[in-house]
Amino acid sequence: MDYVEFNKKHRALYERIPGTGISLLSEYGPEVGRGWLPFLDSCFTSVANELATFSDPDFALIEVKEKWGHLNILSRGGNERIDALLAKAEALSHIVCEECGAFGLLRKFENGWYATACGTCAAARGDHDVIWMRNAFR
Ligand SMILES: [Zn+2]
Repeated sequence: MDYVEFNKKHRALYERIPGTGISLLSEYGPEVGRGWLPFLDSCFTSVANELATFSDPDFALIEVKEKWGHLNILSRGGNERIDALLAKAEALSHIVCEECGAFGLLRKFENGWYATACGTCAAARGDHDVIWMRNAFR
């Protein structure tokens, strides 16, 4: 699944700028690598299914981005079940390579950047150290 297809499928969940109908998320898409799109697709599909069971005109995904090597989702509204679905996706980002979707670990690269990456993708990016996160699953 590419970003265009992804955004087309999930744009109803994205926050819109009041009075314009424009969504920054659908303009640029989730600011994450392709490796995370499959589990994000599954997560957002489950969120949409959950939203279909009750009315919440306020619900919106505001930001979906990578920060310090992990997925960060900022949302508004919803319910506890939706919060759990979003938290599950964030937790998955701790063990899935952002580049290719294989099993990955958080690594710190020589240039100071953090990324969750598999051994192959990490090697392609240059020198790195694996950073062990004891509290990876919040
Ligand atoms: Zn990889």
